[in-house]
Amino acid sequence: MRIPSSLLTLVALVLAACGTNPVTGKREVQFISAAEEVQIGEKNYGPTRQSEGGDFTVLPELTNYVNSVGQKLAAVADRKLPYEFVVLNSSVPNAWALPGGKIAINRGLLTELDTEAELAAVLGHEIVHAAARHGAKAQERATIMQAGMQVAQIGAVVGGVDANLTNLMLQGAGAGAQMVQMKYGRDQELEADRYGMKYMKAAGYDPTGAVTLQETFVRLSGEGAKQKSWLDGLFASHPPSMERVEANRKSVAEFGAGGEIGADAYATRLKPLLDIKPAYDKYDAAMAAAGKGDLGQARKLAGEAAKLVPQEGRFPQLLGEIALAEKKPKEAISYYQKAIQLNPGYFGSYLGGGVAQYRAGDKAKAEQWLTQSAKLLPTAPAAYFLGNVARDKGDTQGALKLYQAAATSRSDIGQNAAAELVRLDLPQHPGKYLATAPQLAQNGRLMLVIENRAALPLSDIQVTPVMVDASGNIVRQANPVGIRQVLKPGERAAVDAGVGAVSQQNLPAIRFRVDTAKVAQD
Ligand SMILES: [Zn+2]
Repeated sequence: MRIPSSLLTLVALVLAACGTNPVTGKREVQFISAAEEVQIGEKNYGPTRQSEGGDFTVLPELTNYVNSVGQKLAAVADRKLPYEFVVLNSSVPNAWALPGGKIAINRGLLTELDTEAELAAVLGHEIVHAAARHGAKAQERATIMQAGMQVAQIGAVVGGVDANLTNLMLQGAGAGAQMVQMKYGRDQELEADRYGMKYMKAAGYDPTGAVTLQETFVRLSGEGAKQKSWLDGLFASHPPSMERVEANRKSVAEFGAGGEIGADAYATRLKPLLDIKPAYDKYDAAMAAAGKGDLGQARKLAGEAAKLVPQEGRFPQLLGEIALAEKKPKEAISYYQKAIQLNPGYFGSYLGGGVAQYRAGDKAKAEQWLTQSAKLLPTAPAAYFLGNVARDKGDTQGALKLYQAAATSRSDIGQNAAAELVRLDLPQHPGKYLATAPQLAQNGRLMLVIENRAALPLSDIQVTPVMVDASGNIVRQANPVGIRQVLKPGERAAVDAGVGAVSQQNLPAIRFRVDTAKVAQD
């Protein structure tokens, strides 16, 4: 027996540098350089904004306002980074920071705050997470949380294929989403509060805002099940505590109370958002109804929302998704067209629209929209339907690559892609999908043990027993053996190899070459 070379182990060496934390001034081991941090943030900011709700484009002046407050704090932060602040189109109360200073706050958190000082407290806290390398450190420890991924606000009904976007993001594309759903440690939360308040004070805000905000959070987290969206949102990554309230009170004593609170300024800035909030409440209720399969109620609510705020693209998009689920692709296309026209920067409308175009038979338009959607956020449905377009064009290699990508997703569509992959690849490589091994029966006859490793049932399997020399070259081959039964995925069968008895010592030289197999017809 030769030792396969695959047993050789590859050892990756990481060169670590010792550095000083830019916020706390403490010495620490740093595996990720400052340039890499900025790079991580820049690479992931776009797709993460997409997966967390997309930019809120209906009130661009609101993002300008949030950015102006954020930049005031960034100007006094201990670390200069290319800070950016955006408002995302999600009702989940949440805010997050990526390494490199890329920060986002949901409209669902903005409507819960009362003063500009509280907004400054949220943004200052996120600035510290980025500046003090909290996210980068988590990456270094590879402790990025896998569980509890929540993407509640995404209209990914997509013809009833799958409703959970988390499972639909392709490997790599989900990295940013994992980073923003990471749970920060107790020390990091205290550090983010403390330095955030220091920046508030330096930027002219009353740091007391961080105390009232934390008190509100503790109260909301204590209300338990009623506040599920909070628990899924901000509280999952930034757990509130009485310890933080106490620590923040001490920080106020240290930095000094006083400064701008900005209750009136905040109310004025938030009024346009609060005015249209009822439309988003209807949209959220429509999503919940669609999730329960009540498409009639979902259509009614989404229609009402669209009437209230005709400039919001997400509302016609949901109407498109409902039409798609009802197998009316032409009607869906007109809704998606409207959604894209209103907001040309959100992946979801292109994705649903591309699926609708494919189902309506316009494959060129389907390819164009699906490609655009994958550019904004790579997802399994986009890869799967682009795979279908490539397959239909006869581009087998292109289709195989796309199905392979889609098959990495743990979703129905991932399974469909895996099945298409087998269908396309099986004629060329049947041996990839059937594992074989020789075995001796009690009477000494050679048996073939064969197992279906494909995601589909296989039939018409033909295998040839061969003998190989020490280098693996075939030196003899016997007559092919046909397997009569259909092998279900994972099923194993043992059949007589048709060559009679074989000695124990010859057994290691025997292999089986899989000649043909077909996907079994139902
Ligand atoms: Zn935090």
